[in-house]
Amino acid sequence: MHLPRRDFIKYGTVAVASAFKGTASTKYRIMEERIDFDVIIVGGSYAGLSAAMALGRSLRHVLIIDSGYPCNRQTPHSHNFISHDGEKPSVIAEKARSQVMAYPTVRFYDGLAVYGKRTDTGYEIGTQGGQTFGAKKLLFATGIKDIMPDITGFQECWGISVIHCPYCHGYEYRGKKTAIMANGERAFHIASLVHNLTDNVTILTRGKADFNTDQIDRLEKHNIQIIETDVVKIAHEQGYVNQVVFRGGSNIHFDAVYAALPFEQHSDIPAKLGCELTDLGHIKVDMSQKTSIEGIFACGDSSSMMRSVAYAVATGNIAGAMINHQLTEEMF
Ligand SMILES: Cc1cc2nc3c(=O)[nH]c(=O)nc-3n(C[C@H](O)[C@H](O)[C@H](O)COP(=O)(O)OP(=O)(O)OC[C@H]3O[C@@H](n4cnc5c(N)ncnc54)[C@H](O)[C@@H]3O)c2cc1C
Repeated sequence: MHLPRRDFIKYGTVAVASAFKGTASTKYRIMEERIDFDVIIVGGSYAGLSAAMALGRSLRHVLIIDSGYPCNRQTPHSHNFISHDGEKPSVIAEKARSQVMAYPTVRFYDGLAVYGKRTDTGYEIGTQGGQTFGAKKLLFATGIKDIMPDITGFQECWGISVIHCPYCHGYEYRGKKTAIMANGERAFHIASLVHNLTDNVTILTRGKADFNTDQIDRLEKHNIQIIETDVVKIAHEQGYVNQVVFRGGSNIHFDAVYAALPFEQHSDIPAKLGCELTDLGHIKVDMSQKTSIEGIFACGDSSSMMRSVAYAVATGNIAGAMINHQLTEEMF
């Protein structure tokens, strides 16, 4: 059955559902016809799924496109999200996905969105698989990518014993011998938080320490040592740190290492569509999660430095409601 475009819109979920079963003929049909939705959400992790729930419950036709690489995928246990404390991150996401997919106007596409462009009726998103989808509104819940340092063993420990946030994993390492791999304001801020969880803290600046005299005094007062020698390796067992190895070969045992990493946007599509970024590199949004470009919204890590599952879910929920509100104003 070859549906004209308006029927794709009207019966969008049916058309997509059958097309996604993937017979040769339906695949071919998808490539020549654009399927239109009310909203395309790029990124189907916590923020995107949360927005999809608000929109699905409002009977909006929603397509979620997700490439399956959430930033916390290596963490064995996710903490500090009420009702899911200590769960495996993928379990939280799978449960969310099954709840969201119970709403019949929501569709999920496993794959990578590779471009976006403006159209007469809204926006178009193209995927790596060659499919093209249209929507009146776009929501980017694409998250960020942490840029790993060139330290042997670092990547393998990331999210397990090399951690980014005291709220997410600090309690599990309370009282433990802890390093903070950072410098300047960032290191001082993390040290002030972590000192409340353990009194055995060392800052590894990997170069000349950058603290003012007041900060040095306060670090000394709390017995926080600073080591400037570069770190070349993290010796570990299955992601659990044993030793931090310094240039020159000396080493020290630590149980946990906090690391403040640089990051980049997981997707460059929002910037290419003209969405303004903040000085730190997040997508600039207002209180309604609207970006600087009309009809485009962003939520979760991509648009906030408050990095947590709870915050991603909260901003996704706001974005979903605000997009629905905008659609309602335009259509009612
Ligand atoms: C190591 C680590 C451990 C953490 N532990 C905790 C914790 O214990 N508790 C806590 O509350 N928070 C924790 N966090 C923070 C939390 O994981 C994030 O705040 C949260 O995952 C953000 O959700 P998000 O949906 O915005 O982005 P993400 O979860 O990162 O998901 C983004 C999604 O978008 C997809 N995507 C990106 N670009 C495209 C594209 N072009 N096309 C299709 N899909 C795309 C990705 O594949 C991914 O699935 C941790 C973070 C890290 C890095």
